[in-house]
Amino acid sequence: MKIILASKNQDKIKEIGKILNRSNRKLITCNDVDIPEVEETGSTFVENAILKARSASLSTGLPAIADDSGIEVDYLNAKPGIKSARYSGENATNESNNLKLLGALNGLPHKDRKACYRCIIVYMRFPDDPFPVITSGSWHGYITDRLIGSNGFGYDPLFYLPEYDKTSAQISSDLKNKISHRAQALIKLEEYFEKEEAGA
Ligand code: IMP
Repeated sequence: MKIILASKNQDKIKEIGKILNRSNRKLITCNDVDIPEVEETGSTFVENAILKARSASLSTGLPAIADDSGIEVDYLNAKPGIKSARYSGENATNESNNLKLLGALNGLPHKDRKACYRCIIVYMRFPDDPFPVITSGSWHGYITDRLIGSNGFGYDPLFYLPEYDKTSAQISSDLKNKISHRAQALIKLEEYFEKEEAGA
């Protein structure tokens, strides 16, 4: 079975590809076909993930998987949330986003720097699928007061995991792909596929 992965983010493509890799399934990505850029006009991760999956399915004629994710910081009332990719403006980079977040939390003690990565994964069989499969994952941590580590992407060098005493940019990609917000949501989708295949 062929499925289009509705993402242009190479870091996400890598993580998702590793977790959903199965011999009976071929994940088609923007590296294989051209998929249009989608304006993320929703006000929730779910809405934006549906917009991305629907558009990719429409343009390719394939079932589609989309991810919408971001980081919520308690002190910022769950911001940047759905705006995580463009937190520091239209031309945001990982570096500019990280610097803006460090500035916003400047001087705040560790105990008040709680944050949570969120991920919604949507699977749609066809563009007007009235029953999208929606799975979610949440990953709790703290925002550090400086960049630590060089693995991962995005806010990973600022996301401290007390249980490992490391940031998510210090843990291995294999571990991240077992415990992250994205991994949690994808594992649930994989369970759904397995049940479907078993005819349950
Ligand atoms: P999206 O493409 O609108 O879903 O953007 C999600 C944004 O949230 C990314 O560009 C990152 O800034 C951030 N983000 C989501 N997941 C992760 C992660 O696993 N590590 C680091 N940053 C992430």
